[in-house]
Amino acid sequence: MLTEQLTDRLKERKIEYRPGYALSGCGTFRIGGPADLWIQPSGTDAFIEAARICREEGCPVTVIGNGSNSLFPDEGIRGAVIGTKGLRDLTVQGGELKAGAGVMLPRLALEARNAGLAGLNFLSGIPGTVGGATAMNAGCYGSSMGSVLDRALVMDLSDGHTEIWTAREFGFGERDSVLLHDPSKVVLEVFFRLLPGDRKALFEEAEQMQKKRAGSQPLEDPSAGSVFKRHGAEAVSRLIDLCGLKGTRVGGAEVSPKHAGFIVNRGQATAEDVKALIRIIQDRVKAEYGFVPEPEIRIFPPEGGR
Ligand SMILES: Cc1cc2nc3c(=O)[nH]c(=O)nc-3n(C[C@H](O)[C@H](O)[C@H](O)COP(=O)(O)OP(=O)(O)OC[C@H]3O[C@@H](n4cnc5c(N)ncnc54)[C@H](O)[C@@H]3O)c2cc1C
Repeated sequence: MLTEQLTDRLKERKIEYRPGYALSGCGTFRIGGPADLWIQPSGTDAFIEAARICREEGCPVTVIGNGSNSLFPDEGIRGAVIGTKGLRDLTVQGGELKAGAGVMLPRLALEARNAGLAGLNFLSGIPGTVGGATAMNAGCYGSSMGSVLDRALVMDLSDGHTEIWTAREFGFGERDSVLLHDPSKVVLEVFFRLLPGDRKALFEEAEQMQKKRAGSQPLEDPSAGSVFKRHGAEAVSRLIDLCGLKGTRVGGAEVSPKHAGFIVNRGQATAEDVKALIRIIQDRVKAEYGFVPEPEIRIFPPEGGR
């Protein structure tokens, strides 16, 4: 439960929190009502402490990164929502890079390039955190988090214990990992083992990737990226385009005219608008191609979780 004692304890430990904080400010869709309590710990130890206080006070916890793959409900989320973006330590030692769960992927890729380490450039243009990308097995251009992560420090919110997981233990699949099915597990730190590369060539490659992305995606509009997972080898965005759905609107939510796989927020979109538009797309694709596209974005319920 959310009690004065809980917030007093956070205050005592100098952990930043805000009651009734609008989740529209916590994700790239710019949609969502208030979290009962928003907590932003400044590092791994503070995160562990905040999670312990919530556990001891019986307050349910939802963990988010940059909210770039998330649709938060109009009613907001009950209990505490803990953001990881303060977990931003990053160290490079030889070929090993260690990053806190809240490190943003473009910074991760940049630091690897600066250190002359290859393998993370594909993450340069993904606007998420290391922890969110691990949970989602984020990726593009034929690579994904599961192909570069060596091991990670994982915490169990139910009892606070931490342990190291190897890549295999995450059960990575198509924009999927065991983390998405078990909201009690949280990634705190990720370790990468990388091979040396030519710095100049790495910077050139990253620039090419960014150009390609900017040319095809509506990066200027609030969105949560691609809404649907691939269907086998098929990009669902192509089928949505073939159905003539670009520009279709429900309230303030629109199928991007630039990329049919993206739903963009035209200013006042609600989570209900986005969900209604998703249903329209699913119905049309089912009618034309015989399957219901599976959302990639995380649609949070008001009771939180993952
Ligand atoms: C313009 C744009 C382009 C994009 N391009 C791509 C792309 O090319 N490829 C791609 O894969 N994705 C892409 N995305 C989607 C998104 O950026 C990625 O999925 C990203 O990795 C999500 O990270 P996040 O920190 O924002 O996660 P969030 O949205 O905050 O969270 C996503 C899920 O992960 C869970 N989670 C977050 N942090 C942790 C943690 N530390 N431990 C356990 N679980 C956690 C959350 O509970 C939630 O279920 C794009 C999004 C946008 C807006």
